[in-house]
Amino acid sequence: MEEQHKRLQSGAELHRKEGSKFLKDYQIECEECDESSYVASYQEPVFCPICGRRAEAEEVQSMEKD
Ligand SMILES: [Zn+2]
Repeated sequence: MEEQHKRLQSGAELHRKEGSKFLKDYQIECEECDESSYVASYQEPVFCPICGRRAEAEEVQSMEKD
């Protein structure tokens, strides 16, 4: 039983995922100033970084997978 426990310890800790703290890229399409911008943020942005008004942000799917 002791050997099994050791094996679990060495394997399980390796692939622990940091769920929420993940910098994501968002594309913001602003209807107020008619600009598109990209923002990297932990949360979904709700304001246009150019004019400061409310804007729609869409998560940009990253091309690379790990
Ligand atoms: Zn804007």
